[in-house]
Amino acid sequence: MVRDDAYDHDILILGGGLVGSALACALDRSGWRVGQVEASAPQAGAPGFDERKLALAQASLNALQALDVLPRLATPPAPIRRIHVSRAGDFGSVRLEAAEHGREAFGAVVLARELGQALEARLSACGDLVRHRPAQVIRVQPDADGPVVWIEQDGSERRLRTRLLVAADGSRSLARAAHGIGAEEHDYGQTLVVCSVATDRAPDGTAYERFSDEGPVALLPMAGGHYGAICGVAREDAARVLALDDAGYASYFQQRFGWRAGRVLRVGARGGYPIVRVVAERLTAPRLVVMGNAAQTLHPIGAQGFNLGLRDALSLAEGLVGEDPGAAPVLAAYVEARREDRERTLAFSDGLARATANGSFPMHLLRSLGLLALGHVPGLADPLVAGAMGFRGRVPVLSRGGA
Ligand SMILES: Cc1cc2nc3c(=O)[nH]c(=O)nc-3n(C[C@H](O)[C@H](O)[C@H](O)COP(=O)(O)OP(=O)(O)OC[C@H]3O[C@@H](n4cnc5c(N)ncnc54)[C@H](O)[C@@H]3O)c2cc1C
Repeated sequence: MVRDDAYDHDILILGGGLVGSALACALDRSGWRVGQVEASAPQAGAPGFDERKLALAQASLNALQALDVLPRLATPPAPIRRIHVSRAGDFGSVRLEAAEHGREAFGAVVLARELGQALEARLSACGDLVRHRPAQVIRVQPDADGPVVWIEQDGSERRLRTRLLVAADGSRSLARAAHGIGAEEHDYGQTLVVCSVATDRAPDGTAYERFSDEGPVALLPMAGGHYGAICGVAREDAARVLALDDAGYASYFQQRFGWRAGRVLRVGARGGYPIVRVVAERLTAPRLVVMGNAAQTLHPIGAQGFNLGLRDALSLAEGLVGEDPGAAPVLAAYVEARREDRERTLAFSDGLARATANGSFPMHLLRSLGLLALGHVPGLADPLVAGAMGFRGRVPVLSRGGA
């Protein structure tokens, strides 16, 4: 590590969402001069620190524990001990038991707002981190010696120079575009409606995923005796569904999900998320790394987006060896370290989203047989389970835990 005063930072993280903040935690005490730019004000919280429910894979729980983030959660994570997958109109269903795979749980569910607050609390204990916040990045100029970043803060403009720029600035990444990295987009034509649901049967650690031609529906067990409910709705129907009152939505959700988790008693305030997949064509440019939603924005149904982005952050932090964090070999090693996990997770998430939405008869049959086989053929579910728990490709050290 060599200090070079021509630069304001060795590493500048653009974005203080879940992934940028997790990276800042992972770089605490690394010795690098780390800076972070985030547009939102601290008291408002980053836009992603909202009421969405996040299923965290075991690999993520291991890492967040090691980073001292998990102990700062206001509500402890609710474990997922089994997963029940079914599809309206298909005859197969599958029930995966963590205990049958030698695990106590596959993962656990937290509220994004509370995870954001826990990350915030952890970041305020990072003595060396320089936070530019609230500050808007207005321009990024690529430069082989280190990108130049213009920020607007307190009504004035400032220029920052860094040896490595990390674009963790979300799906519409300005840094990604400024470096000429294109992104492939696919609009699923769906809006996900997210809220809390209480039923007459308390959650017992089962996460339910139910697929239908109208879109996926999921119930995630939450602490406090209720579920996190996610319901995919065709985009053209979203405004109508979001406008339903509580009783109307409770009955709509019951009809979409069925009765497996009991009668819906109450529903909380609804939020709508239009779902578009965005995949960057490259992860790096000279002295730039793209990660998290800026690198890949996935359909939330597979619950992989943050889990994958966290592994992006951990891999980068782990690979920053040597004297120059932006050196070409460091970036090449990062791309290689992320290749398998990224490819397999993208294929899994997109495959799940597309296959489960296809209503043709052969697909019904294949899906039914597939679900039946998963539940009944020993060993068939093992790779799926390991992948969904975040153990794909080269697993970052902090994610391994006792696994
Ligand atoms: C309904 C829903 C459910 C989900 N469920 C799960 C789940 O169960 N499990 C899971 O793993 N994932 C899930 N996800 C995905 C997960 O929420 C995202 O992958 C994750 O939040 C991405 O974080 P990020 O930090 O990469 O991006 P973002 O959250 O988009 O953060 C980017 C940050 O950069 C800042 N920024 C952007 N541009 C600028 C600029 N020019 N100047 C300054 N700041 C800027 C923004 O203010 C923002 O804070 C879900 C997503 C949705 C929508």
